Order: sequence, then C-alpha cells, then structure tokens
Amino acid sequence: MKIAKNTVVTVEYKLSDAQNNLIEDGRQPMVYLHGGYENTLPKIEEELDGKDVGYANTIQIEPEDAFGDYDPNLLKVEERARLPEPLEIGMQFEGLPEGGEEDDAMIFTVTEIAEDKVVLDGNHPLAGMALRFELKVMDVRAATEEEIAHEHVHGAHGHHHEEDEEGDGEEGDHFRSHPIH
Ligand SMILES: [Zn+2]
Repeated sequence: MKIAKNTVVTVEYKLSDAQNNLIEDGRQPMVYLHGGYENTLPKIEEELDGKDVGYANTIQIEPEDAFGDYDPNLLKVEERARLPEPLEIGMQFEGLPEGGEEDDAMIFTVTEIAEDKVVLDGNHPLAGMALRFELKVMDVRAATEEEIAHEHVHGAHGHHHEEDEEGDGEEGDHFRSHPIH
C-alpha cells in the first residue's frame, strides 16, 4: 500500500543536525496519520507521499521548514530566587516572553545558571537548526474512520484514549505519537 492521504505510516528515523551530530536515534519509530494533519513536519510528508514500505532516504530540512529561526528576543534573564530549586540546565518552565500577555505563554528552557541569575530561552530546542532525517518506511495501512475523525493515530504506538477519564473526546492530553517536539 502506498502512502497517501489517510494512511497510517510507521517510519524509522534517525535525526541529526547538518554536521551529522546525532540528535535523536528514534529508538521508537514514528507512527503518524498522513495527509496534512500536522502530525509530523510537512517536509517529511512531502518526501514520503506516494512511497511504499521499504522506501528509505535521508533528507535535510532547513530551519524555516522545521522549528523556525533562532530568535534572540526570546532569551530572558530571571532572578534565580524566582525559580524552584534544585535548578538544572535543560529544565523547562512555562512563562511569558518580555512584555508578553497571558495568551503568549511559552516553554522556556534553562540554558545558563549563575549565582543569582538564570538565563531562560524560549526558542524551541531545535530552532535555527537544519535537521537531517534518515527515514525508512516500515509499515503503511489505511487509517480507520475514527482516526481520520480525530486527526491522529490510535493503537499500538499511537494515541490511547482513557475511556473512563476522557471518553473519546478531543479534550485532554493527546499524545502526538511523535517525540520530536
Ligand atoms: Zn483519538
């Protein structure tokens, strides 16, 4: 079966930067609903569209087609006392950009820790990077009607609904079956 709109694609991947430094070895394959549902990067869908099981290729995706350019305005310095302890580089907090409003809440990553100040970076960790994906298609199947209605994959590696807690609705924590974000 060829990859087309409303197929569920299982793809093994290895993610590196443009200098071939490994970012993610994709121990878990990515399973996504194909067809512009934003379950994965559009450039990956473009590459795989019309392909079949066994297809393998390495593609490079520029920052503008991945997680955007690095924006130095999203760096902010915060009093260390305002953040919880113990504090470590790489920890993430939700916060507002300088002068931002409630709706602008974003995830900040701790990138530097000094005695009384902390640098927080609101850029996506992969912002500004060209990304190299080694892709290999492992499985292609037709999506179920329910998956198409929900715009995501159900089942083994996909999204599980907690019948008791959230029923079959769209509320709650929807696992995106895609560890790159
Ligand atoms: Zn669902």
